[in-house]
Amino acid sequence: VKNIKKYFPLSKGWFSAKGHVKAVDQVSFSIQRGETFSLVGESGCGKSTLGRLINGLIKSDDGEIIFKGKNLTGANEKAWRSYRKPMQMIFQDPYASLSPRMKIKDILDEPLKIHHPELSKETRKTMVQEILDVCGIDAYHLDKYAHEFSGGQRQRIGIARALILKPELIIADEPVSALDVSIQAQVLNLLKELQENYQLTYLFISHDLSVVEHISDKIAVMYLGNIVEISPAEDIFSRPKHPYTQALLSAVPIPNPKVKRERIMLKGEIPNAANPPKGCKFHSRCPHAMDICKTVEPQLKKVEGQMVACHLY
Ligand code: SF4
Ligand code: MG
Repeated sequence: VKNIKKYFPLSKGWFSAKGHVKAVDQVSFSIQRGETFSLVGESGCGKSTLGRLINGLIKSDDGEIIFKGKNLTGANEKAWRSYRKPMQMIFQDPYASLSPRMKIKDILDEPLKIHHPELSKETRKTMVQEILDVCGIDAYHLDKYAHEFSGGQRQRIGIARALILKPELIIADEPVSALDVSIQAQVLNLLKELQENYQLTYLFISHDLSVVEHISDKIAVMYLGNIVEISPAEDIFSRPKHPYTQALLSAVPIPNPKVKRERIMLKGEIPNAANPPKGCKFHSRCPHAMDICKTVEPQLKKVEGQMVACHLY
């Protein structure tokens, strides 16, 4: 992803403000095959928009998306359809993305029918059964509808549907946020297992740093449309560089009561993305803000193997 940019115009009604929301503002990063790259930040920071840009569900205003050496920028809808097959999405609310009027077996059969018209009905049926089995859903559920399953089971079905086309990259947007904590761990373990067995690459989007701790290789932290830090996961948790990363981490509970982590309370709310602060967009909330932060926007640069955008370094 190179310098990708997406601004949404504000509606121009009588009473609404003019201008645009800078949802994603000049973002660059790369994901290696087989790794889990997590995007973390508060809601409204642009992480979901970024996921949809990469998947081509929305088009960028500027910048490039290069997938396996192919530049997808400017590709037409037909070309995007063929790119999207190796790039599947998993959403937060599988209920909303699973048709209420279709049986589970038909929900999973549909993408196969579209993308693999050469396969016989019998072969497709076997494939559907296999993938559901791998995702922990028993074959006797095949004739059921989405509402007959629990939240955790529905997410397993959502994952099975994403996997049925044998994708290489999975973009998972808050895949466990709607689930109970105990179920979250099960679904995260399933995702990890699937990654090993099918050599999957994940772009994992979450507002919760603790959710991505054990599955991530790299973590990118987003704030108001920018990436402010990209670091190996262990460094984010042991020596976070950006003051915003430090604040996010301070809110993560530690299971060991002997280890103390002081909670860093940020001033105020996340500012309006239609009118972000000048200079470093974080300066209105940063405990370390200096004069330069109000005027000069810091760029990502390498600091001890981590990438960080902050004038402290
Ligand atoms: Fe804080 Fe300044 Fe660094 Fe921004 S650039 S995070 S305001 S110290
Ligand atoms: Mg979101």
